[in-house]
Amino acid sequence: MNFKAQLDQIELFEKVAQAAEKLGLKTYVVGGYVRDLVLGRPSKDIDFTCVGSGIQLAQEVAKYFDQHVPLSVFKNFGTAMLKLDDWELEFVGARKESYRSDSRKPIVEDGTLEEDLERRDFTINAMAISLNREDYGELIDPFDGLGDIRRKTIKTPLEPNITFSDDPLRMLRAVRFAAQLNFDIDADTFFALSENAARLQIISAERIIDEVNKIVRTDKPSYGFKLLFASKLLHEFFPEMVELQGVDSVDDKSHKDNFYHTLQVLDNVSKVSDDLWLRWAAILHDIAKPATKRFNPKAGWTFHGHEDKGAKMTPGIFRRLKLPMDERMKYVQKLVRLHLRPIALVKDEVTDSALRRLLFDAGDAIEDLMKLCRADVTSKNNKKVQKYLDNFDKVDQKLKEVEEKDQVRNFQPPISGEEIMETFGISPSKVVGEIKEEIKEAILEGKISNNPEEARKLMFEIASQKGLNPIKSV
Ligand code: ATP
Ligand code: MG
Repeated sequence: MNFKAQLDQIELFEKVAQAAEKLGLKTYVVGGYVRDLVLGRPSKDIDFTCVGSGIQLAQEVAKYFDQHVPLSVFKNFGTAMLKLDDWELEFVGARKESYRSDSRKPIVEDGTLEEDLERRDFTINAMAISLNREDYGELIDPFDGLGDIRRKTIKTPLEPNITFSDDPLRMLRAVRFAAQLNFDIDADTFFALSENAARLQIISAERIIDEVNKIVRTDKPSYGFKLLFASKLLHEFFPEMVELQGVDSVDDKSHKDNFYHTLQVLDNVSKVSDDLWLRWAAILHDIAKPATKRFNPKAGWTFHGHEDKGAKMTPGIFRRLKLPMDERMKYVQKLVRLHLRPIALVKDEVTDSALRRLLFDAGDAIEDLMKLCRADVTSKNNKKVQKYLDNFDKVDQKLKEVEEKDQVRNFQPPISGEEIMETFGISPSKVVGEIKEEIKEAILEGKISNNPEEARKLMFEIASQKGLNPIKSV
């Protein structure tokens, strides 16, 4: 199979070929770019492998462009990168490598193209295209990656136990590529995943979460998570999620399987949003159900307080998984904590103050919270689902009306601390905070409207109860 026609459409390949010819280096396009070319998925990252020095080749290639091409050299790794418009070109010499069984540190030596390809993770990633004159554009495919693309199969080029023990991260990559491409994992390769899952322990949390997030970002993340669960890879880094799986029964009463429910919620939010953190909120929304599960002979199974407990568990899970401990974690935590609140607002007689409190607590996360709540409706009964969704439409409408009236979603105190201090001639102290808090409560409760005039009036009332007198007349 020859890709000359495709290479000819992109000028840079010819330039790399010229530079390689000048240096007398056999050079190939390899890995993900080749795979994506076959799949018809456009990609901007290109990996080049030459038999010789990749750094030297990159330095030569940079000379073939009129414009300045920024070059980064990573001497320790023997690689170099060129940035050309929005292309990222990576150059490396062909190598063979193996990992000692007790360490991630590879022993790397120069090798042939075939040796370089066989140390790669999967057959679909172990193809190359020649840039050499004698066979320009020819596909080199020693492990039938092309066949595996046709069969939609993820399979290791070598015996899977060897490939996985050299770098256990590849086990997660197997699931990640299956999830991204909607491929199956070859039976022997899958068996080796379960056999070697425990080896994931030597991999850093950073490398793990990179792959996991790629799975979370796929169109239908449940598929990747089911593979993680079935291979027991999930057990190695996310036991809390594994705990969700299973159904208990007492007196013929059973609860739903919260693992599969969570995956359905995750798929549902993924249909309406690409946001990684909303997807994480879906993953974590019921994470405390196992910890709060109780059986009550009258009420059946309950999970009281799982939303608060789940919010409490969120920082620890984020920290361990090396997810960011910043406002993104807070946002996920907030959605987990609030995920039942809109359901409580479905009732017809719901008060404005309950609506205001939710707007105040959710702030700008209110729309995402409503998306999560809608996604959380996973009944098999379509009529029921429709009824719940209609109810949420009504809640949306009520929230909109209350927000137009009272603007509490991004609540700003109508009276500042400075004004309170100036009015009563007091310095910063607890009482200032108390007055502000009482004003806020009165607004949320609907005792006064959210405007400075009514707030000021209330400020005087509260202050006088506290024995404070204004220092100037108003
Ligand atoms: P994407 O860029 O979409 O994540 P990719 O296949 O390009 O997919 P990269 O991580 O960019 O993945 O790696 C480029 C190539 O390097 C892969 O196609 C594969 O051939 C090889 N490779 C990357 N990581 C590994 C690994 N851990 N073990 C073996 N080969 C790997
Ligand atoms: Mg890549």
